[in-house]
Amino acid sequence: MKNTHQCPKCSSTDLSKLEGGNNWNSRPNKIYYNSFKTIPVIRFVCNHCGYSEEWVDTQHLEKLKSKFGLPERGGSEFV
Ligand SMILES: [Zn+2]
Repeated sequence: MKNTHQCPKCSSTDLSKLEGGNNWNSRPNKIYYNSFKTIPVIRFVCNHCGYSEEWVDTQHLEKLKSKFGLPERGGSEFV
């Protein structure tokens, strides 16, 4: 939905965008990285069927991976 501006479930283009929040502001959508730092998560919600999709800005991906990343699997096997 972030890129297509269309719901992948019902094809509606009636969407809402909820900005993610930093640190201690009132925006609730965030991932706690440690006690003092959070990573904002941007949420897109379909106003027709309620499907939602969440995105983390690419500048935060290395931090997220260092704390929460799963071990990478060998080879090209994709499950
Ligand atoms: Zn929808």
